Amino acid sequence: QPVKLNPLMEMHKEAADFYHQILMTTKIGERGLEYARSRQLDDETLKHFQVGYAPDRGDLLLTYLREQGFEDSLLSQSGLFVQSKDGRLFDRFRDRLMFPMTDEAGHPVAFSGRRLSDNKEEAKYLNSPETSVFNKSNLLFHFAEAKKHARKEGHLVLFEGHMDVISAYKAGVKTGIASMGTSLTEQQVYMIRRITKNVIINYDGDDPGLHAAERAVGLFKQAGNFNLGIVVLPEKMDPDEYVKQYGAEHYQGAIKGAISTTDFFLYRLKQKYNLNNEREKVNYLAEAIQEIAGLNPVEQDLYVNRLSEESGVSVEALKVNLSRARRRNR
Ligand code: ATP
Ligand code: MN
Ligand code: MN
Ligand code: MN
Repeated sequence: QPVKLNPLMEMHKEAADFYHQILMTTKIGERGLEYARSRQLDDETLKHFQVGYAPDRGDLLLTYLREQGFEDSLLSQSGLFVQSKDGRLFDRFRDRLMFPMTDEAGHPVAFSGRRLSDNKEEAKYLNSPETSVFNKSNLLFHFAEAKKHARKEGHLVLFEGHMDVISAYKAGVKTGIASMGTSLTEQQVYMIRRITKNVIINYDGDDPGLHAAERAVGLFKQAGNFNLGIVVLPEKMDPDEYVKQYGAEHYQGAIKGAISTTDFFLYRLKQKYNLNNEREKVNYLAEAIQEIAGLNPVEQDLYVNRLSEESGVSVEALKVNLSRARRRNR
């Protein structure tokens, strides 16, 4: 039997249906559908994620929800409307492709709307403000759905944005979640840990993406007890673009090829230093060894050999520094 929802959640359910119907079946929605097609979103995907379109009008959703019997007092608490000085309500989202954000049970509680135009003056994404049903620091996009698949797959994949989650899903990686533009929070890390301790981080290949990945690794390590893998994409690509460029199979391969946090740390470290300069090389090795000193003996051996090969410094010398680093760690 149907569960009685909180009225604001009931309203979001109606709104998500409404925007979705506009996108899929109406003339006024064609503009949105054209954009969705340009991003290679097929009907099945649009349906699965209940993607919608908010037309460029000020009162479409407002009128609809009033007709459904929602009171203005409730409408004004929903985040779906903006209020003018004289107290009148207007649809907040206009001319945007609408992505419902759902809570842990899969009920829509907020939206993220992407502008269709290239007009840089408007924010690329507009999110619902926080409300009594939407707290952005403890919501993960696609979490309710991804956790079902996580049971079978044994892991979750963390992305920057929902277009990445969606493209990955289309490419057969159904365990994707995203923190939606805000940097990952401690609460989100704990939400993830209740599902699995195996997490693959697949952020954008640009520098902000790599920085965010480093920060995320730090948060997971702080929470403890995670097995992490990091997928490093080509520099100017995000997962969405990667899937489009290389296809599903190749992308699944990239996920399987996720590197360890140590490899990721060393990869980033190498970018920071100019290894042709002796001084910088010494500093690089010192930092690398400090990191390696925290690993188990087999891993230490492996990495010392690798460092020796790439730097031309003898294994013996590196091992002396390694045992010093181990003593410092104690
Ligand atoms: P698209 O592919 O549509 O351009 P994206 O996901 O690649 O989007 P990024 O610029 O990589 O966008 O940003 C990552 C995430 O950060 C977005 O998915 C979105 O959730 C959030 N974000 C980006 N720009 C904004 C913005 N102007 N306002 C709010 N959130 C934003
Ligand atoms: Mn990005
Ligand atoms: Mn991106
Ligand atoms: Mn993108």
